[in-house]
Amino acid sequence: MRKKFIAGNWKMNTTSVTSKDLLSGLVSGLSDEILEKVDVVVCPPFTSLATTNEVIKNKKIGIGAQNIHQKDEGAYTGEISAPMIKSLNCGYVILGHSERRQYFGETNHLINAKIKNALKYGIKPILCVGETLDERENNMHMKIVDDQVTLCLKDLTKEDMKNVIIAYEPVWAIGTGKTATPDMANEMHIIIRQALENIFGKDTADSTRILYGGSMNDKNAAELLAKPDIDGGLIGGAALKADNFIKIIQSAY
Ligand code: PEP
Repeated sequence: MRKKFIAGNWKMNTTSVTSKDLLSGLVSGLSDEILEKVDVVVCPPFTSLATTNEVIKNKKIGIGAQNIHQKDEGAYTGEISAPMIKSLNCGYVILGHSERRQYFGETNHLINAKIKNALKYGIKPILCVGETLDERENNMHMKIVDDQVTLCLKDLTKEDMKNVIIAYEPVWAIGTGKTATPDMANEMHIIIRQALENIFGKDTADSTRILYGGSMNDKNAAELLAKPDIDGGLIGGAALKADNFIKIIQSAY
């Protein structure tokens, strides 16, 4: 049985000051009982990670970053490394988000290097994969996603995979208000699970959590999360309001 996993990707929103309100809302609205039933992770900007630690204190809410560099340290002005986020208690990092692929030229090869670096520091990658509208309309979505999974997870072991979470995020659904239907999303999750089985075997495929992301909100979450292969959500816009995020979490159990 795969435990449901709900992560909030705050993207480039909130300051170290304004993140406090959002975090306080989550801390007061999420009981320990709920946090036992669902794995909940927040991924604020780097500049709010210290505040996040202060506000969530002993609550069982995981902390994630939104990116890392593939190297440990060095002359890479403006970059943030795995040991840096580790020192701020990040147990997770989002890698391969379509916005990083689209605006910062991240390739499957680079994402693979970042995933390996995260794992080296005991940080669990949330690997994002997903097709563009053009790719879907040209019936290439299955092949694109299969390739992303295969290339981004290249050289990983079954043991590594115990610490990897995958998020299927169709690019055309991110921040657009257009959501994949539960059946469309579930179909792609099955494709991803099959790709995992081809590489790592059935045990790994059955135990890896695959999240859906793309305009998931408090209205559509329950229907998406009811699908057998959808193990949680990666939430962007709807994670910026504590009430909405909590409602999504509540629909996960
Ligand atoms: C995301 O950025 O990962 C995401 C799913 O965004 P949104 O929920 O806003 O579509």
